[in-house]
Parts: sequence; C-alpha cells; structure tokens
Amino acid sequence: KYFASLTESFDAVCVEDLNLKGMAGGLHLGKGVHDNGYGLFLSMLEYKLEERGKYLIKADRYFASSKICSVCGNKKEELSLSDRIYYCECGNRMDRDVNAAVNIMKEGKRIFAECA
Ligand SMILES: [Zn+2]
Repeated sequence: KYFASLTESFDAVCVEDLNLKGMAGGLHLGKGVHDNGYGLFLSMLEYKLEERGKYLIKADRYFASSKICSVCGNKKEELSLSDRIYYCECGNRMDRDVNAAVNIMKEGKRIFAECA
C-alpha cells in the first residue's frame, strides 16, 4: 500500500541506495520497511513508477548525505553514528535523518534536472 500513495503523490521519488533511514525520513514512511527488503522494495517501486511514466531517482551510495549541511552545503569530515542531531556552524540544527533526507531530495532534483 506504500506504492499507491507514493506513486500518486510524487512525479519522481528520490532514494538513496542502501540508506533506508534517509529514504524513510524523506518520504515519511516511518520505520516499517526493513533493510533486508529494501532492494526488493526499490525494484517494485521503480516498476510501479515506470508504469505511470514516473521516475525513481537513486542518489549515489557514496553521496555523503549525512555529512553535508542541508542549509549551507558545508561538509563535515567527522560525523559519528551516535550523533543523532546534525549541528552546523551556520546555525543549522536538525535531526540527522531529516538533514540527510533533505540532501537526498536536493541531490535527486539535481540528477533529475541533468537527465531531463
Ligand atoms: Zn550549515
């Protein structure tokens, strides 16, 4: 039932390869989709989107979505997995997953613009 709402609500869906949290944060899916089903989930989602003439955009898995500030673009060299809140010198203070999700969406738009 994720597919119906996803494919109807968006013209394109951006996800990050291998980063379920980023995706879940970005699309407000919650934590219901588990890692072991992620590849399958993506293939099905892609299929459903293409059926409707829409797109699945995958950000490169090496794209440092967690380390980049989604406000100013500054990239942190060090970010520990235990840092749940992203702090930046520009004053940005955001939940780590939300920050990453914003970056993935931006990256998705950039990729989409290049392909279009
Ligand atoms: Zn910043």
